[in-house]
Amino acid sequence: MPSINENFLKLEKNYLFINIAKKVNAYKEAHPDADIIRMGIGDVTLPIAKCVVDAMKKGADEMGVKETFRGYEDSGTGYDFLKEAVSGYYKSFGVDVAVDEIRINDGAKSDCGNIVDIFGNDNVVLITDPAYPVYVDTNLMSGRKVIYADSTEENGFAAMPDDSVHADLIYLCSPNNPTGSAYTKEQLKAWIDYAIKNNAIIIYDAAYEAFITDEAVPRSIFAVEGSRQCAIEMCSLSKTAGFTGMRCGYTVIPNELKVTASDGTEVSISQLWGRREGSKFNGVSYPVQCAAAAVFTEEGQKQTKENIKYYQENAKIIASALDELGIKYTGGKNSPYIWLKCPGNMGSWEFFDFLLEKANVVGTPGAGFGKNGEGWFRLTAFGDRERTKEAMERIKALKF
Ligand code: PLP
Repeated sequence: MPSINENFLKLEKNYLFINIAKKVNAYKEAHPDADIIRMGIGDVTLPIAKCVVDAMKKGADEMGVKETFRGYEDSGTGYDFLKEAVSGYYKSFGVDVAVDEIRINDGAKSDCGNIVDIFGNDNVVLITDPAYPVYVDTNLMSGRKVIYADSTEENGFAAMPDDSVHADLIYLCSPNNPTGSAYTKEQLKAWIDYAIKNNAIIIYDAAYEAFITDEAVPRSIFAVEGSRQCAIEMCSLSKTAGFTGMRCGYTVIPNELKVTASDGTEVSISQLWGRREGSKFNGVSYPVQCAAAAVFTEEGQKQTKENIKYYQENAKIIASALDELGIKYTGGKNSPYIWLKCPGNMGSWEFFDFLLEKANVVGTPGAGFGKNGEGWFRLTAFGDRERTKEAMERIKALKF
């Protein structure tokens, strides 16, 4: 009989959103006529921009013609046409990233999770709490020691480094899921200084960079001095361009990022990750890469930004309803997430049940993202406009 990786037994039995789906399904079964509005899972709802779909169709047609058919892509790191488009995108907000530092993937979740493969299990991993569950789960799966940096009401849910604590790997997400908070350049510089002092690497999740409106908030960690010697960035087209069902993102590893192995040799992180990918990943489909490249064209940017504006308007509607109710929140600005303090001193799951029963609105209990999420709750702006308005009217009508 094979033994199992018993680290899995240390995880919550189900991924957070499976627990939520179970509760909602049970409620629906008991109340079949309930008109439930889902503002829980962070999935987008608007269709993909037309020019992006057209590019995908063209790519698919090319696959059916002998002269333009493509099999495995040689490098497995993505077609140059897409990597060049990503590099140009970075340049549009003032960041220099070379084409050979970009790797195309099937979404940021995979790389955020898989990156643990190239780091030793003896590393101390620092994760802000609350956090997107993938960072904690994947490190627990490989048996690593995880320590936490507290994001709290007091620090605006933007955890900062503690110089008395050592870490080797640091996960940062900005704009943050779930709290919607976003680091300023100065705050990121403090994390970079901490990483350099500790010889640590920052794994920076920029999945929501396209929602940033504030000039003081960098779109990439590579906009901040010192980052190239200590950071890896992961980004995604899921929320930027509606690619949750398409699967495409990109990871940037600076060429100069190196660590010293136990025998004293210098090892390039990019080379190590390339080796891992060479054995375990065969790339993203050609039509999807064609679609992704179209996102970065002038027309693609125009069309995808329309969708982002729509979600940003939803965020404003949610935020102004909470303002009217006098409920404290972070996010909504620079982020599609609104992270609110549960009214009436309710716990996260208590408020989840309350909202489901009294307003038929589904959100995400903050406690599912870590201990500091207890008493907090996440709503997303990714829904339909009228349904978002309706949900907020229902919430405004409640008595807490
Ligand atoms: N990173 C964060 C912070 C997210 O919230 C999500 C999705 O919700 C992802 C990564 C996953 O992105 P992808 O769909 O590209 O795998």
